[in-house]
Amino acid sequence: MTSAPVVVVGAGPTGVTAALSLAVQGIPSLLLERCADVHPLPRAVHLDDEAVRVLQSVGVGRAFRAISRPALGLRLLDARLRTLAEFPRGQGPYGHPRASLFDQPDLERLLRAELARRPETVLRTGIEVLAVEPGRTDVAVRVRDRATGQVELLRAPAVLGCDGAASLVRGVVGARWQDLRSTERWLVVDVRCPVPLGHWEGVHQVCSPVRAATFLRVGEDRYRWEFQLHDHEDAGELLHPPALSALVRPWTGDVPAERLEVLRSSEYVFRARLADRWRRDRVLLLGDAAHQTPPFVGQGLGAGVRDAGNLAWKLAAVLRAQAPATLLDSYEAERRPHVRTLIRLARTAGWAMTGGSGRGAAVRRSALAALCRVPGAVRLLDRGTPALGHGPLVPRGDRLAGTLAPQPQVGGGALLDDALGPGFAVLTTAAVDPALRTLCDRLRGRLWRVDGGRLHADDGTCVEDDGTISRWMRSAPARTVVLRPDRVVLLSDRHDASPGAALERRHGALLRCVGA
Ligand SMILES: Cc1cc2nc3c(=O)[nH]c(=O)nc-3n(C[C@H](O)[C@H](O)[C@H](O)COP(=O)(O)OP(=O)(O)OC[C@H]3O[C@@H](n4cnc5c(N)ncnc54)[C@H](O)[C@@H]3O)c2cc1C
Repeated sequence: MTSAPVVVVGAGPTGVTAALSLAVQGIPSLLLERCADVHPLPRAVHLDDEAVRVLQSVGVGRAFRAISRPALGLRLLDARLRTLAEFPRGQGPYGHPRASLFDQPDLERLLRAELARRPETVLRTGIEVLAVEPGRTDVAVRVRDRATGQVELLRAPAVLGCDGAASLVRGVVGARWQDLRSTERWLVVDVRCPVPLGHWEGVHQVCSPVRAATFLRVGEDRYRWEFQLHDHEDAGELLHPPALSALVRPWTGDVPAERLEVLRSSEYVFRARLADRWRRDRVLLLGDAAHQTPPFVGQGLGAGVRDAGNLAWKLAAVLRAQAPATLLDSYEAERRPHVRTLIRLARTAGWAMTGGSGRGAAVRRSALAALCRVPGAVRLLDRGTPALGHGPLVPRGDRLAGTLAPQPQVGGGALLDDALGPGFAVLTTAAVDPALRTLCDRLRGRLWRVDGGRLHADDGTCVEDDGTISRWMRSAPARTVVLRPDRVVLLSDRHDASPGAALERRHGALLRCVGA
């Protein structure tokens, strides 16, 4: 075991979430960021409840609520802004609104403030990583101070490449992009307007063959438009104030153009691509360094945040020599197919909303009908992202394994994860056998007896939910559930008696892989 900090390259939202997730697991890290401050321009504006749950796990759940607002859902509109379909999104099963709108620089500042509070993390800005070289026992990292030009050599037990789309670490891992064939040019316009524009409080997607567009209110007086650019179009021409005013006019009505303060308007190229490998020994890729997705289902940043939540507890267990290094194999095995599915859904959704130009509204309506028939698309809009597929930590034949546990409130404004803490949790309605207690100890987890709406921990803690957890276990059906630190179900068991012995008998190897 080493006490040298893990090096995180890039202090974007993925890198900071990764450092905080490691800190929660007690692992120190050093974040190296070449820029002086957070990226000032608005980028991501949407996160789903699963990603916000990860933010909660690193201590910024409440603060995020203060800088975000729930979206009512997604509305698909035709060229004349008439509603074609609506997907409402209320409170989700994971403790947070199913869709939250916010401004990415606000989120990044909030994450950095939390970073400053944690003794386990150090952020060095103005530091450019020049090279990363994995060695036999550790990883060498060559950096340059951009102000002084001084070059320094650091050594780290592991390096996380959170260095965005133009990642240097991706080359070190030996990864190449897999192009999932969806490159689109969009004009992104962010505006401040002191006069409320008074539209429905959700995301509007204009499905027009003439020009697909997205519109939403981001914050108090902040609005975002995204307009699809056609192949022949020069974005520069549309950026001239009269052309821009004409584009937003259907939404701004009689608000005079002078009252709209354009914060940013520029062309972005959205791509769909996936790194073909995410790891070389102890050098790993996360966030945009590993994947990029078209914007249609708002999952780019969310995917990076999920990467951080998935990896941190595994890396912590391996660095502490509590789990074998093979546990790290499960990171790419779980995250890569999940991201691929979401990119494909974004592509499908994008095609249905914007493709087939010139073929008229009938085609558009049938494309939307097709979208509504894609189970994954409806599931995503309706219920959330897919469960983790079968893999090293997700055995076949266990319906709960790989799914996220629900997160009810447990009183006093707290949510279940706050009560469970950052490690493994074993929930049971069965008679506890010594083997279950031993298993829990080996996982360094906490054992909770579920009794209707009450959850009793072995240390005497008792919290109450509204019966969500016992209903969830009953409907699976499961008498015992083992939750990973990222609140994904590791295993479930139906036995009324001796659940510990049953879990050990059936899944001994898997349990040892996670450090039991
Ligand atoms: C217009 C737009 C709209 C979007 N909307 C959404 C949305 O609604 N929902 C959503 O989920 N996502 C959205 N996204 C995507 C989202 O913004 C990105 O997925 C997210 O920023 C990725 O975060 P990251 O930390 O992985 O990478 P980045 O934010 O790119 O951060 C990488 C960091 O690494 C640093 N770095 C790079 N190389 C080095 C080096 N060699 N040394 C030191 N530092 C280095 C960079 O300076 C940067 O700070 C949108 C993106 C755009 C452009």
